[in-house]
Amino acid sequence: MTQIVVFGSANMDLVAYVAKAPQRGETVTGREFRTLPGGKGANQAVAAARAGGTVSMIGAVGADAYGTQLRATLEHSGVDTDLLRTAEGPSGTAHIVVDDEGGNAIVVIPGANGTLTGLAPGDEAVLALADMLLLQLEIPLEGVLAAAEAAHRHGVRTVLTPSPVQPLPPGLLAATDLLVPNEHEAAALTGVTDPYEAADALLKQVPEVVVTLGSAGCLYAARGAEKITVPAPHVTAVDSTGAGDEFVGSLAVALGESRPMPEALAWASSAAALSVQRPGASAAMPCRGEIDELAL
Ligand code: ATP
Repeated sequence: MTQIVVFGSANMDLVAYVAKAPQRGETVTGREFRTLPGGKGANQAVAAARAGGTVSMIGAVGADAYGTQLRATLEHSGVDTDLLRTAEGPSGTAHIVVDDEGGNAIVVIPGANGTLTGLAPGDEAVLALADMLLLQLEIPLEGVLAAAEAAHRHGVRTVLTPSPVQPLPPGLLAATDLLVPNEHEAAALTGVTDPYEAADALLKQVPEVVVTLGSAGCLYAARGAEKITVPAPHVTAVDSTGAGDEFVGSLAVALGESRPMPEALAWASSAAALSVQRPGASAAMPCRGEIDELAL
């Protein structure tokens, strides 16, 4: 089985559903409130574990009820949490207001995620045995960099989701094997709006790129190779939250099984298409049998 390490965030998403989001100084009565486990790191870990990978999560939760819940959610999906630290202070939270038009406004308080400025003793030994390291940018950049460089030293393939998008330091790009931006992130990183041209620009910095294109599928580019486009299965989406994380988690599993890139991309696209048909992020993530069924 593919051995995957995720080094990244775990957040509790606190979601208020309202007809119209309040303006400054205004109070509105909302319709519903939900607490949903999230954070891009935890989402990718759950996605990869449900897709059949052996997954270890390096991250941090707070010493609070959300931390207990976040840890339990990971474990319930089969993610190894031995390296998930419990930090002093609160867990990371995302405060989300979703309006009736599907628009949202989000405040993220990093909490425990902010303590992830580097690897802890014991992390590197587990990382060294992995096939793949999954990284995102919801924790301090210095922590992402330290993990990427350690993986690179051990010949472990690194997959970076550049979200939330920000300038990437040269050291991080040098230690990244596969970059997976969505089309907006690809444009923000390169200043080029066309995803094909953005992929070409990114290939000057990393050897392989997948640009995800929402319902339009994805685009793969590698140095010296023809680009591959993979359409997304035609489905009725009810909630695309976490689609990108589902895509990356399942792609990592398929690549770790040495499946050819076109097949791995198609399989990940099936997994992501399943996840958008159900509400929630990690709660919507499919298991291996479901993905195989759709991908066949
Ligand atoms: P999110 O931020 O919502 O997690 P993202 O912006 O990182 O997602 P997207 O490009 O929107 O990433 O989606 C990732 C992948 O999920 C796409 O490449 C596609 O395979 C799949 N996907 C997303 N939306 C749909 C949809 N409406 N129908 C089918 N597949 C979809």
